[in-house]
Amino acid sequence: MSHRILLLPGDGIGPEVVEQARRVLVATARVFDLDLIFDSADLGGVAIDRHGDPYPESTRLLARQADAILLGAVGGPKWDTLPAAQRPERGLLAIRSDLDLFCNLRPAMLYPQLADASSLKPDLVAGLNLLIVRELTGGIYFGEPRGVETSADGVRRGFNTDVYDETEIGRIARLAFQFAQKRNGRLCSVDKANVLEVTMLWRDIVTEVSAEFPEIELSHMYVDNAAMQLVREPKQFDVVLTGNLFGDILSDTAAMLTGSIGMLPSASLNAESRGLYEPVHGSAPDIAGAGKANPLATILSAAMLLRYSLDEGPAADAIEAAVEHVLNAGLRTLDIASSSADAATTEAMGDAVVAAITSLS
Ligand code: NAD
Repeated sequence: MSHRILLLPGDGIGPEVVEQARRVLVATARVFDLDLIFDSADLGGVAIDRHGDPYPESTRLLARQADAILLGAVGGPKWDTLPAAQRPERGLLAIRSDLDLFCNLRPAMLYPQLADASSLKPDLVAGLNLLIVRELTGGIYFGEPRGVETSADGVRRGFNTDVYDETEIGRIARLAFQFAQKRNGRLCSVDKANVLEVTMLWRDIVTEVSAEFPEIELSHMYVDNAAMQLVREPKQFDVVLTGNLFGDILSDTAAMLTGSIGMLPSASLNAESRGLYEPVHGSAPDIAGAGKANPLATILSAAMLLRYSLDEGPAADAIEAAVEHVLNAGLRTLDIASSSADAATTEAMGDAVVAAITSLS
Protein backbone atom coordinates (compact mmCIF):
# COMPACT_ATOMS: atom_id res chain seq x y z
CA MET A 1 0.00 0.00 0.00
CA SER A 2 1.33 3.43 -0.84
CA HIS A 3 1.35 6.32 1.63
CA ARG A 4 1.14 9.94 0.56
CA ILE A 5 3.28 12.31 2.64
CA LEU A 6 3.03 16.07 2.24
CA LEU A 7 6.18 18.06 3.06
CA LEU A 8 5.68 21.65 4.24
CA PRO A 9 9.23 22.98 4.68
CA GLY A 10 8.06 26.49 5.65
CA ASP A 11 10.48 29.24 6.66
CA GLY A 12 13.92 29.79 8.20
CA ILE A 13 15.61 26.49 9.04
CA GLY A 14 12.42 24.61 8.08
CA PRO A 15 13.60 23.61 4.56
CA GLU A 16 17.02 22.51 5.89
CA VAL A 17 15.65 20.19 8.56
CA VAL A 18 12.77 18.84 6.46
CA GLU A 19 15.21 17.89 3.70
CA GLN A 20 17.21 15.75 6.15
CA ALA A 21 14.03 14.12 7.47
CA ARG A 22 12.90 13.41 3.89
CA ARG A 23 16.23 11.67 3.18
CA VAL A 24 15.82 9.60 6.34
CA LEU A 25 12.28 8.60 5.31
CA VAL A 26 13.48 7.60 1.84
CA ALA A 27 16.26 5.46 3.36
CA THR A 28 13.81 3.90 5.83
CA ALA A 29 11.32 3.15 3.05
CA ARG A 30 14.05 1.32 1.15
CA VAL A 31 14.98 -0.82 4.16
CA PHE A 32 11.38 -1.61 5.15
CA ASP A 33 10.01 -1.84 1.62
CA LEU A 34 7.50 1.00 2.09
CA ASP A 35 5.90 2.85 -0.80
CA LEU A 36 6.08 6.52 0.21
CA ILE A 37 4.93 9.21 -2.21
CA PHE A 38 6.11 12.75 -1.41
CA ASP A 39 4.43 16.03 -2.31
CA SER A 40 5.63 19.45 -1.27
CA ALA A 41 3.72 22.68 -0.70
CA ASP A 42 4.01 26.13 0.85
CA LEU A 43 2.87 27.14 4.33
CA GLY A 44 3.63 30.21 6.40
CA GLY A 45 5.82 33.11 5.28
CA VAL A 46 6.91 31.46 2.04
CA ALA A 47 3.24 30.96 1.17
CA ILE A 48 2.49 34.61 1.88
CA ASP A 49 5.29 35.61 -0.49
CA ARG A 50 4.26 33.25 -3.28
CA HIS A 51 0.47 33.10 -2.92
CA GLY A 52 -0.52 36.02 -0.66
CA ASP A 53 -1.98 33.57 1.87
CA PRO A 54 -0.23 31.61 4.68
CA TYR A 55 -2.42 28.55 3.94
CA PRO A 56 -3.19 28.76 0.21
CA GLU A 57 -5.79 26.67 -1.57
CA SER A 58 -3.10 24.64 -3.40
CA THR A 59 -1.67 23.57 -0.01
CA ARG A 60 -5.12 22.88 1.41
CA LEU A 61 -5.93 20.47 -1.45
CA LEU A 62 -2.71 18.49 -0.95
CA ALA A 63 -3.11 18.51 2.85
CA ARG A 64 -6.56 16.96 2.58
CA GLN A 65 -5.27 14.18 0.31
CA ALA A 66 -2.21 13.35 2.41
CA ASP A 67 -2.00 10.43 4.83
CA ALA A 68 0.42 12.49 6.90
CA ILE A 69 2.14 15.87 6.80
CA LEU A 70 5.67 16.80 7.84
CA LEU A 71 6.18 20.46 8.64
CA GLY A 72 9.43 22.37 9.27
CA ALA A 73 8.56 25.69 10.90
CA VAL A 74 6.88 28.94 9.96
CA GLY A 75 7.55 32.60 10.70
CA GLY A 76 10.39 35.05 10.81
CA PRO A 77 11.21 38.75 11.11
CA LYS A 78 10.31 39.42 7.49
CA TRP A 79 6.61 38.93 8.26
CA ASP A 80 6.54 40.24 11.86
CA THR A 81 5.09 43.61 10.87
CA LEU A 82 2.07 42.17 9.05
CA PRO A 83 -1.31 42.45 10.80
CA ALA A 84 -1.96 39.45 13.08
CA ALA A 85 -4.57 37.98 10.73
CA GLN A 86 -2.04 37.74 7.86
CA ARG A 87 0.97 36.36 9.76
CA PRO A 88 2.67 33.04 8.93
CA GLU A 89 1.42 31.50 12.21
CA ARG A 90 -2.14 31.91 10.89
CA GLY A 91 -1.25 29.23 8.35
CA LEU A 92 -0.48 26.83 11.15
CA LEU A 93 -3.73 27.55 12.99
CA ALA A 94 -5.66 27.25 9.71
CA ILE A 95 -4.26 23.83 8.78
CA ARG A 96 -4.84 22.51 12.31
CA SER A 97 -8.44 23.57 12.25
CA ASP A 98 -8.99 22.53 8.61
CA LEU A 99 -7.88 18.97 9.38
CA ASP A 100 -9.49 18.93 12.86
CA LEU A 101 -6.20 18.06 14.54
CA PHE A 102 -7.52 17.93 18.10
CA CYS A 103 -4.88 15.66 19.65
CA ASN A 104 -1.42 17.06 20.23
CA LEU A 105 1.36 14.67 21.19
CA ARG A 106 4.52 15.97 22.78
CA PRO A 107 6.97 13.28 23.83
CA ALA A 108 9.76 14.37 26.14
CA MET A 109 12.60 11.92 25.80
CA LEU A 110 16.09 12.40 27.05
CA TYR A 111 18.74 10.29 25.47
CA PRO A 112 21.11 9.37 28.32
CA GLN A 113 24.00 10.67 26.18
CA LEU A 114 22.54 14.20 26.50
CA ALA A 115 21.62 14.14 30.18
CA ASP A 116 24.13 16.90 30.92
CA ALA A 117 22.18 19.29 28.66
CA SER A 118 19.24 19.37 31.09
CA SER A 119 19.08 21.95 33.83
CA LEU A 120 18.00 19.18 36.21
CA LYS A 121 20.42 16.69 37.77
CA PRO A 122 21.32 13.99 35.23
CA ASP A 123 20.03 11.12 37.40
CA LEU A 124 16.56 12.75 37.55
CA VAL A 125 16.23 12.95 33.76
CA ALA A 126 18.55 10.38 32.14
CA GLY A 127 16.35 7.95 30.23
CA LEU A 128 13.24 10.14 30.67
CA ASN A 129 10.47 9.08 28.29
CA LEU A 130 7.06 10.61 28.79
CA LEU A 131 4.27 11.58 26.44
CA ILE A 132 2.03 14.60 26.94
CA VAL A 133 -1.35 14.31 25.21
CA ARG A 134 -2.88 17.78 24.95
CA GLU A 135 -6.35 18.61 23.65
CA LEU A 136 -5.70 21.19 20.94
CA THR A 137 -8.93 22.52 19.47
CA GLY A 138 -11.13 23.23 22.49
CA GLY A 139 -11.00 24.71 25.98
CA ILE A 140 -10.30 28.26 26.93
CA TYR A 141 -8.38 29.16 23.75
CA PHE A 142 -11.54 28.75 21.68
CA GLY A 143 -14.42 29.07 24.16
CA GLU A 144 -17.11 31.72 23.74
CA PRO A 145 -17.93 34.27 25.03
CA ARG A 146 -14.57 35.98 25.03
CA GLY A 147 -13.41 39.54 24.75
CA VAL A 148 -12.61 42.79 26.49
CA GLU A 149 -15.49 45.12 27.27
CA THR A 150 -15.89 48.42 28.99
CA SER A 151 -18.65 48.83 31.53
CA ALA A 152 -20.87 51.89 31.82
CA ASP A 153 -18.60 53.30 34.54
CA GLY A 154 -15.55 52.98 32.23
CA VAL A 155 -13.92 49.91 33.83
CA ARG A 156 -12.48 47.46 31.29
CA ARG A 157 -13.06 43.76 31.83
CA GLY A 158 -11.42 40.86 29.98
CA PHE A 159 -12.94 37.40 29.89
CA ASN A 160 -12.57 33.95 28.33
CA THR A 161 -14.56 30.76 28.65
CA ASP A 162 -13.08 27.38 29.48
CA VAL A 163 -15.52 24.90 27.98
CA TYR A 164 -15.41 21.21 27.02
CA ASP A 165 -18.28 18.90 26.23
CA GLU A 166 -18.22 15.21 27.00
CA THR A 167 -17.67 14.24 23.35
CA GLU A 168 -14.50 16.32 23.13
CA ILE A 169 -13.19 14.90 26.40
CA GLY A 170 -14.14 11.33 25.53
CA ARG A 171 -12.39 11.28 22.14
CA ILE A 172 -9.08 12.61 23.45
CA ALA A 173 -9.24 10.40 26.52
CA ARG A 174 -9.77 7.30 24.35
CA LEU A 175 -6.71 8.17 22.25
CA ALA A 176 -4.61 8.77 25.37
CA PHE A 177 -5.60 5.36 26.77
CA GLN A 178 -4.64 3.78 23.43
CA PHE A 179 -1.21 5.45 23.55
CA ALA A 180 -0.76 4.16 27.10
CA GLN A 181 -1.55 0.66 25.78
CA LYS A 182 1.34 0.99 23.31
CA ARG A 183 3.66 2.30 26.03
CA ASN A 184 3.99 1.41 29.70
CA GLY A 185 0.31 1.19 30.60
CA ARG A 186 0.06 4.24 32.86
CA LEU A 187 -2.06 7.35 32.28
CA CYS A 188 -2.13 10.45 34.47
CA SER A 189 -4.98 12.88 33.74
CA VAL A 190 -4.23 16.44 34.83
CA ASP A 191 -7.03 18.84 35.82
CA LYS A 192 -8.06 21.42 38.39
CA ALA A 193 -11.15 19.56 39.51
CA ASN A 194 -11.00 21.07 43.00
CA VAL A 195 -11.85 24.51 41.55
CA LEU A 196 -13.04 24.38 37.91
CA GLU A 197 -16.35 22.73 36.99
CA VAL A 198 -15.19 22.13 33.43
CA THR A 199 -12.37 19.97 34.74
CA MET A 200 -14.70 18.19 37.19
CA LEU A 201 -16.51 16.98 34.06
CA TRP A 202 -13.11 16.20 32.49
CA ARG A 203 -12.26 13.96 35.47
CA ASP A 204 -15.66 12.23 35.36
CA ILE A 205 -15.46 11.47 31.64
CA VAL A 206 -11.85 10.25 31.80
CA THR A 207 -12.89 7.94 34.65
CA GLU A 208 -15.86 6.65 32.63
CA VAL A 209 -13.65 5.96 29.58
CA SER A 210 -11.17 4.11 31.78
CA ALA A 211 -13.73 1.29 32.11
CA GLU A 212 -12.95 0.43 28.46
CA PHE A 213 -9.24 0.06 29.32
CA PRO A 214 -9.10 -1.98 32.54
CA GLU A 215 -5.42 -2.85 31.99
CA ILE A 216 -4.35 0.82 32.09
CA GLU A 217 -3.45 2.28 35.48
CA LEU A 218 -5.26 5.64 35.64
CA SER A 219 -4.37 8.41 38.09
CA HIS A 220 -5.60 11.99 38.40
CA MET A 221 -3.46 14.95 39.42
CA TYR A 222 -4.17 18.63 39.96
CA VAL A 223 -2.26 20.83 37.54
CA ASP A 224 -0.33 22.69 40.23
CA ASN A 225 0.95 19.40 41.63
CA ALA A 226 1.70 18.12 38.11
CA ALA A 227 3.87 21.19 37.45
CA MET A 228 5.82 20.43 40.63
CA GLN A 229 6.10 16.70 39.96
CA LEU A 230 7.40 17.30 36.43
CA VAL A 231 10.49 18.98 37.79
CA ARG A 232 10.73 16.96 41.02
CA GLU A 233 10.46 13.41 39.67
CA PRO A 234 9.62 13.46 35.96
CA LYS A 235 10.32 9.78 35.40
CA GLN A 236 7.17 8.87 37.41
CA PHE A 237 5.08 9.75 34.31
CA ASP A 238 4.28 7.60 31.29
CA VAL A 239 1.35 9.28 29.45
CA VAL A 240 -0.01 12.62 30.72
CA LEU A 241 -3.45 13.65 29.43
CA THR A 242 -4.66 17.22 29.77
CA GLY A 243 -6.65 20.05 28.21
CA ASN A 244 -5.49 22.84 25.94
CA LEU A 245 -4.35 25.47 28.47
CA PHE A 246 -2.64 23.18 30.98
CA GLY A 247 -1.12 21.17 28.13
CA ASP A 248 0.39 24.27 26.56
CA ILE A 249 2.26 25.06 29.76
CA LEU A 250 3.15 21.55 30.94
CA SER A 251 4.45 20.47 27.53
CA ASP A 252 6.90 23.37 27.47
CA THR A 253 8.03 22.52 30.98
CA ALA A 254 8.53 18.89 29.97
CA ALA A 255 10.40 20.03 26.85
CA MET A 256 12.90 21.94 28.91
CA LEU A 257 13.62 18.86 31.04
CA THR A 258 15.42 17.56 27.99
CA GLY A 259 17.70 20.55 27.53
CA SER A 260 17.70 21.03 23.78
CA ILE A 261 14.83 22.31 21.69
CA GLY A 262 16.56 20.84 18.64
CA MET A 263 15.72 17.30 19.81
CA LEU A 264 11.95 17.54 20.39
CA PRO A 265 9.35 16.16 17.97
CA SER A 266 5.58 16.64 18.08
CA ALA A 267 2.42 15.47 16.36
CA SER A 268 -1.16 16.66 16.00
CA LEU A 269 -3.71 14.02 15.02
CA ASN A 270 -7.35 13.91 14.02
CA ALA A 271 -9.93 11.19 14.62
CA GLU A 272 -8.68 9.18 11.63
CA SER A 273 -5.08 9.36 12.94
CA ARG A 274 -4.08 11.52 10.01
CA GLY A 275 -1.66 14.05 11.36
CA LEU A 276 0.69 16.95 11.15
CA TYR A 277 4.19 16.22 12.45
CA GLU A 278 6.64 18.96 13.29
CA PRO A 279 9.60 19.81 15.49
CA VAL A 280 8.73 21.79 18.62
CA HIS A 281 11.21 24.51 17.70
CA GLY A 282 10.51 27.49 15.47
CA SER A 283 12.16 28.74 12.29
CA ALA A 284 15.34 29.88 14.11
CA PRO A 285 16.04 32.85 11.80
CA ASP A 286 19.31 33.49 13.67
CA ILE A 287 20.87 30.33 12.20
CA ALA A 288 18.83 29.87 9.00
CA GLY A 289 20.92 28.95 5.97
CA ALA A 290 24.08 28.43 8.04
CA GLY A 291 23.96 24.63 8.17
CA LYS A 292 23.88 24.80 11.97
CA ALA A 293 20.34 23.57 12.65
CA ASN A 294 19.84 20.30 14.45
CA PRO A 295 17.60 18.16 12.20
CA LEU A 296 16.95 15.48 14.84
CA ALA A 297 13.66 16.96 16.11
CA THR A 298 12.28 16.79 12.56
CA ILE A 299 13.78 13.34 11.96
CA LEU A 300 12.14 12.13 15.19
CA SER A 301 8.87 13.76 14.04
CA ALA A 302 9.16 11.64 10.88
CA ALA A 303 9.49 8.57 13.12
CA MET A 304 6.27 9.57 14.90
CA LEU A 305 4.61 10.01 11.51
CA LEU A 306 5.45 6.43 10.60
CA ARG A 307 4.21 5.13 13.97
CA TYR A 308 0.98 7.07 14.46
CA SER A 309 -0.34 7.84 10.96
CA LEU A 310 1.11 5.05 8.82
CA ASP A 311 1.11 2.32 11.51
CA GLU A 312 4.68 1.38 10.59
CA GLY A 313 5.97 0.90 14.14
CA PRO A 314 9.13 -1.10 13.30
CA ALA A 315 10.24 1.54 10.77
CA ALA A 316 9.68 4.24 13.42
CA ASP A 317 11.68 2.22 15.94
CA ALA A 318 14.50 1.96 13.41
CA ILE A 319 14.73 5.74 13.00
CA GLU A 320 14.79 6.24 16.76
CA ALA A 321 17.47 3.56 17.10
CA ALA A 322 19.49 5.22 14.32
CA VAL A 323 19.34 8.57 16.16
CA GLU A 324 20.51 6.87 19.33
CA HIS A 325 23.32 5.20 17.41
CA VAL A 326 24.50 8.52 15.98
CA LEU A 327 24.46 10.15 19.42
CA ASN A 328 26.37 7.19 20.86
CA ALA A 329 28.96 7.69 18.17
CA GLY A 330 29.44 11.23 19.55
CA LEU A 331 28.01 13.27 16.66
CA ARG A 332 26.54 16.59 17.83
CA THR A 333 25.15 19.68 16.09
CA LEU A 334 26.08 23.03 17.59
CA ASP A 335 23.10 23.22 19.99
CA ILE A 336 24.09 19.98 21.75
CA ALA A 337 27.87 20.05 21.21
CA SER A 338 30.23 20.82 24.06
CA SER A 339 32.37 23.03 21.80
CA SER A 340 31.72 24.68 18.45
CA ALA A 341 34.90 23.16 17.00
CA ASP A 342 33.34 19.68 17.25
CA ALA A 343 29.90 20.59 15.85
CA ALA A 344 28.47 18.67 12.90
CA THR A 345 26.46 20.43 10.19
CA THR A 346 22.77 19.82 9.57
CA GLU A 347 23.63 17.74 6.52
CA ALA A 348 26.35 15.72 8.27
CA MET A 349 23.83 14.79 10.97
CA GLY A 350 21.34 13.75 8.28
CA ASP A 351 24.03 11.71 6.50
CA ALA A 352 24.89 9.89 9.72
CA VAL A 353 21.25 8.95 10.46
CA VAL A 354 20.76 7.80 6.86
CA ALA A 355 23.93 5.68 7.11
CA ALA A 356 22.76 4.15 10.41
CA ILE A 357 19.38 3.23 8.87
CA THR A 358 20.99 1.86 5.72
CA SER A 359 23.33 -0.33 7.75
CA LEU A 360 20.22 -2.14 9.01
CA SER A 361 19.56 -3.66 5.58
P1 NAD B 1 13.00 29.24 17.76
O1 NAD B 1 12.63 27.90 18.27
O2 NAD B 1 12.93 29.43 16.30
O3 NAD B 1 14.49 29.58 18.24
C1 NAD B 1 14.86 29.70 19.61
C2 NAD B 1 16.37 29.44 19.75
O4 NAD B 1 16.63 28.06 19.58
C3 NAD B 1 17.21 30.17 18.70
O5 NAD B 1 18.42 30.59 19.27
C4 NAD B 1 17.46 29.12 17.65
O6 NAD B 1 18.67 29.30 16.94
C5 NAD B 1 17.51 27.84 18.49
N1 NAD B 1 17.02 26.69 17.72
C6 NAD B 1 15.74 26.43 17.37
N2 NAD B 1 15.67 25.31 16.66
C7 NAD B 1 16.93 24.84 16.55
C8 NAD B 1 17.49 23.70 15.92
N3 NAD B 1 16.75 22.81 15.23
N4 NAD B 1 18.82 23.53 15.99
C9 NAD B 1 19.59 24.38 16.66
N5 NAD B 1 19.12 25.48 17.30
C10 NAD B 1 17.79 25.70 17.23
O7 NAD B 1 12.06 30.29 18.51
P2 NAD B 1 11.95 31.88 18.30
O8 NAD B 1 13.30 32.47 18.06
O9 NAD B 1 11.14 32.34 19.44
O10 NAD B 1 11.07 32.07 17.00
C11 NAD B 1 11.59 32.30 15.70
C12 NAD B 1 10.45 32.29 14.70
O11 NAD B 1 9.85 30.98 14.68
C13 NAD B 1 9.33 33.27 15.04
O12 NAD B 1 8.87 33.85 13.84
C14 NAD B 1 8.26 32.40 15.67
O13 NAD B 1 6.98 32.94 15.48
C15 NAD B 1 8.43 31.13 14.87
N6 NAD B 1 7.96 29.90 15.56
C16 NAD B 1 7.34 28.99 14.78
C17 NAD B 1 6.92 27.79 15.35
C18 NAD B 1 6.28 26.77 14.45
O14 NAD B 1 6.41 26.85 13.24
N7 NAD B 1 5.61 25.78 14.99
C19 NAD B 1 7.13 27.53 16.71
C20 NAD B 1 7.81 28.49 17.48
C21 NAD B 1 8.22 29.69 16.89
